[in-house]
Amino acid sequence: MRKASLDLGLAPSAIRSLFEYGKKQKELLGEDKVFDFSIGNPSTPAPEVAKNTLIQLLENTPPEQLHGYTSAPGDLDVRNAIAYYLNKTYGAKTKGELIYLTCGAAASLCIALNALLNEGDEAILFAPHFPEYKVFVEAAQGKAVVVSPDHSTFEPDFADFSAKISPKTTVVIIDSPNNPSGIVYSEKTIQRIAGILQQKQQEYGHPIYLLSDEPYRELIYDDIPYPFITNYYDNAIVAYSFSKSLSLPGERIGYLLVNPSCADAKNVFAAICGSGRSLGYVCAPALFQYMIPSCLGQTSDIEVYKSNRDFLYNSLVALGYEPIYPTGAFYMLVKALEEDANAFSEKAKKLNLLLPPSDSFGIKGYVRLSYCVSKKTIEASLPAFKKLKESYGDL
Ligand code: PLP
Repeated sequence: MRKASLDLGLAPSAIRSLFEYGKKQKELLGEDKVFDFSIGNPSTPAPEVAKNTLIQLLENTPPEQLHGYTSAPGDLDVRNAIAYYLNKTYGAKTKGELIYLTCGAAASLCIALNALLNEGDEAILFAPHFPEYKVFVEAAQGKAVVVSPDHSTFEPDFADFSAKISPKTTVVIIDSPNNPSGIVYSEKTIQRIAGILQQKQQEYGHPIYLLSDEPYRELIYDDIPYPFITNYYDNAIVAYSFSKSLSLPGERIGYLLVNPSCADAKNVFAAICGSGRSLGYVCAPALFQYMIPSCLGQTSDIEVYKSNRDFLYNSLVALGYEPIYPTGAFYMLVKALEEDANAFSEKAKKLNLLLPPSDSFGIKGYVRLSYCVSKKTIEASLPAFKKLKESYGDL
């Protein structure tokens, strides 16, 4: 048995543990007595266009096509439709032949990392980061190197970033809008990251791939523009997922995209195909591949998340908490009321408030709230937040 796999299996993530605990508590106490902010399961339904397209496909497509294998990187018409959409929307120059359909962002990341990393190569993560990045990098035989945030903005600490790039750095992962902070990187931030990487590539004489994980790309509030990464950096690879934009996380559909101006783009794409093959992905779910062209640019109702964001943020501030203001995704970091976020999370748990501590996101002292829940849940949770604050007395 492989020890690393056993260890992972025996120690589920802090988020998943709280989620499973919440399910049991709900059975015991009732749905409305447990305030589960643990997991990023979208609470708004998929847009009508997704449902209608699926019904149409089920009724009108010959079953051998609908449920059959597609070519391994996915149906070419679908990949071309994605490229056309991205080029039209972001002024990018992507190509369908360099798009590989996957079972969601997690699969996209694992396939890309296994394609790019050799044993001992380093992958840089910006804290706070999605905890699974570390798992995925290590499973691909790489070493995760974590860059600290600038605590006043929750954007990367650029001095720390420069200092942590070494001759072994092969991949840098970015995630904007960010899970867990909800921060959206500005164009200036993307330009700074790209500038530093270009300089380091020249210094070390080999490509450093920027892997942009974008499951929340369309979940942006307050009219903030989205700088599409291939317009700023040549050696860019995009990992996308329809899990959050279309509220379909259980259906497992997304893609990887290699920037056509990436060094040796064709071979990078070939390595992605080889990696997907060796990991046994075969092809992405066919029905959901065929759904994609009519759903590009569509989202479930994100006004619901924006309204939740405003209500939760304002309510927590009014109660005396210090949340970080999120401009995208559906997560909010809130400062724990004691140094040890695990201890704070345990106290919250006693009030049936399920708030994962930030340690597994690579920073200390915060909890993360997924506010993709019903407004009723947020409203009903406020007395528990009040009680929790009061239990710490006057801070
Ligand atoms: N990347 C980030 C930042 C995420 O938050 C998630 C899921 O929550 C994923 C990747 C995995 O998404 P998917 O469901 O598409 O595999």
